[in-house]
Amino acid sequence: MPSSLTVIGVQGRRVTVRTGLFIHNDFISSAANQTLGVENPSTGEQLGTIAAAGREDIDYAVQSAKTGFETWKTVSGPAKARLLLKLADLIERDAQDLASLEAIDAGILYTDSMALNIPQSVGCLRYYAGWADKMDGKTLDMEGGIAYTHREPIGVCGAIVPWNAPLMITIWKLAPALAAGNVLIIKSSELSPLYAQKLAELVKETGFPAGVVNIVTGDGASAGQALSEHMDVRKVAFTGSAVAGRKILQAASRTNLKKVSLELGGKGPSIVFDDCDLENALLWTRVGITANNGQICAAGSRIYVQAAIYDRFIEAYKQAAAGAPTVAGDPLDTSTTKGPIVSHAQHQKILDYIRQGKQSGAKLLFGGERIGDKGYFVQNTAFADVADDAAIMREEIFGPVASIAKFSTEEEVIAKANDSHHGLSAAVFTNDVNRAHRVTKSLESGQVTVNTWAMLSPNVPFGGVKESGFGRDMGEEALEGWTTVKAVKYHILPRL
Ligand code: NAD
Repeated sequence: MPSSLTVIGVQGRRVTVRTGLFIHNDFISSAANQTLGVENPSTGEQLGTIAAAGREDIDYAVQSAKTGFETWKTVSGPAKARLLLKLADLIERDAQDLASLEAIDAGILYTDSMALNIPQSVGCLRYYAGWADKMDGKTLDMEGGIAYTHREPIGVCGAIVPWNAPLMITIWKLAPALAAGNVLIIKSSELSPLYAQKLAELVKETGFPAGVVNIVTGDGASAGQALSEHMDVRKVAFTGSAVAGRKILQAASRTNLKKVSLELGGKGPSIVFDDCDLENALLWTRVGITANNGQICAAGSRIYVQAAIYDRFIEAYKQAAAGAPTVAGDPLDTSTTKGPIVSHAQHQKILDYIRQGKQSGAKLLFGGERIGDKGYFVQNTAFADVADDAAIMREEIFGPVASIAKFSTEEEVIAKANDSHHGLSAAVFTNDVNRAHRVTKSLESGQVTVNTWAMLSPNVPFGGVKESGFGRDMGEEALEGWTTVKAVKYHILPRL
């Protein structure tokens, strides 16, 4: 296997990444010489191969991380912060390369990466750098004495990440994990490994001690499973599907009962009340299901519209889609507005849901077809009058497919929105502040936006309830998941 892979990024720039596993600040082959193919989903073309980790490589990464943890313990909070800040600067410096890599193997629009994924990653590193010297405990009075608590790192941790916003989700784990004093083994998705190879180079250039960050790729069943089962890994932070999340929990329960955090899928309701600003609701309900081709866990894939404006909304939704024609094509091209779906399997899954939607009796408003015959493109699609029990209303499609239905009362729509196994995110459109408070409070959801869709900020926690998982990325709350608390108790002897 060649030791590097070169692709042509934005404006013809050559972007070269190393192809080895990044362990102990070195790029190495996998012990069994296993490799993975890297595919461009815009064309279906194979770009090359990179090393894929197996159980032996995960063992080596854990050994390295154990050494790294001993060193990281001796690094002061301010020095940790300086390293996180430097990594943020390097990501900013190489933003065009990273965004090109996300476009080339994950199909993410270059413009979206530059506008969102990169700045969110940089902001997240800078936010947690601020925490690195503030991991304080408390002092507590006790009967007969006094106690104080230390917030301590967990130790060697793993992060298993998906392909849909890969750099940002990786940094959501890396930044708080390191600020809290842990060391991290990252397993990138086999569908989008290239950004992670570039990130590994930046980690090395930053100057993190060897073993503090190891980055490997490989498929879930081997590398992911080995990390989840490892007896010396104390936590796995996971973002991905519920199917894999369950396997990780099972692995943890079979082995060392490691901590697990799960950020899983969603089927986000967007609730449009008749008193809302209709133009605004039309914009965000559309963006909420078409951004990144709907391949977003927080996608607003169920749209509930109140009866008095239902017909008007449907007509305007159709017109807005027609008025903003999509330019499907190479995600590196800054004039493209629609990139490909990430893989053949995901593409087939979306087309299959669209077929089910057509057979369900729902009304196809627009879209519903594959685009072209090269790569994995699919039209933005919307169905109206979708039944509560239709698969397209209940199941996460992870594609640009909106399911719209009518409701009459506030109580009815809250019941519909909550009638789901998922509970990741929701959006409410209303100009009535009392209603906004009532409804946001009643929704079973990790986050709710009012009059917009999916705002993100590193100081605001993100995560789900119900089968959307547990644990939080971002905000002060994430640090709780990356630490344990030790209580030290002093018995104060009475004066003799
Ligand atoms: P996936 O579960 O197929 O893969 C995610 C990661 O898990 C990959 O790195 C994969 O290799 C690994 N994996 C797979 N099987 C594994 C196993 N048995 N043991 C350990 N690791 C394993 O998910 P995906 O297709 O990459 O991502 C799409 C899913 O992720 C959707 O359901 C989406 O909603 C969810 N997601 C959730 C969030 C969130 O923050 N809640 C964010 C993004 C994506």
